[in-house]
Amino acid sequence: MKRVVVAADLGGTRLRAALVDDEGNVFARRERPTPPKGTEVVELLSTLLGQVASASATAPAAACVTAPGLVDADAGTVLLAPNIEGFRNVHLTRPVAEALRIPVYIENDASAAALGEFRFGAGRGARHVLHATLGTGIGGGLVINGRLYRGARGLAGEIGHIIVDPAGPRCNCGSRGCLEALVSGVAFANRAKRMINNGTSVVLREIVGYTEPTSQHLHQAALAGDRQSEAEIRNGGHMLGLALGSLVNVLNPDIVTLSGGLLQIGDMLLGPAREAMYSLAYGPAAATELKITTLDDDAGLLGAAAVAFERLGEVSRRD
Ligand SMILES: [Zn+2]
Repeated sequence: MKRVVVAADLGGTRLRAALVDDEGNVFARRERPTPPKGTEVVELLSTLLGQVASASATAPAAACVTAPGLVDADAGTVLLAPNIEGFRNVHLTRPVAEALRIPVYIENDASAAALGEFRFGAGRGARHVLHATLGTGIGGGLVINGRLYRGARGLAGEIGHIIVDPAGPRCNCGSRGCLEALVSGVAFANRAKRMINNGTSVVLREIVGYTEPTSQHLHQAALAGDRQSEAEIRNGGHMLGLALGSLVNVLNPDIVTLSGGLLQIGDMLLGPAREAMYSLAYGPAAATELKITTLDDDAGLLGAAAVAFERLGEVSRRD
């Protein structure tokens, strides 16, 4: 019989939950806007996960919630989620476990995404996977020897804060020239804003109009022939490739997998990334594959489910 877990993906704008079986089939989906306050988030999570769990014909074996930001997976705590107000040192698993009466786990969303690709997606069949999430920010996760690698304090995989240009723009973390400050939804939006304020791109200014500049605007301007917008995107891709290439030389994964909204830009971003990554390849690192996620919109839920299944495996091995 197939085993079933409850998976939840807590994002800055929406909270999704569903049942997932061990073959990666997703069902009994629920989705709500993420409440603005931490206490409301915990309440909504308990309610939503309870609804999802009761939709299962067989009792779910466990649940896992993924969250953005710093997560202490062993303590079941979200230490810091920059996009949710007041979400600091919030104990998430205990109240949800009390409501559900099954083991509840928590994981950083990008780490979970790496395990999701390894178990259900583009990294299937690999032993070592390096995953990068390219969205509003840049996240990452590592699967080493078929297991999620969290590091000493759960921080492992924060590839968005690799310094690729010491003279580059200031990052939210306080450093200068982090990958995330050069290539991410926020970085491209900031770049577009500056280009409009400086009056350096008429095309971009016309496309943006009176709205708030976004990475999509920058891409549209590049497609409309604006050289500077295209150069910004290509430079971002190049920086991404330098970071990935350096990591590949350190970790020697079988495969690098990518997910996230920024992938919609396509070859303008990924071409220079691929080129830079392989230009750094040291010896056998040249054989490392680079693949796009195959999980699409379900990447978050399948990542959470993959963590729940891995945790259940750890428990049964200990018994
Ligand atoms: Zn940073």
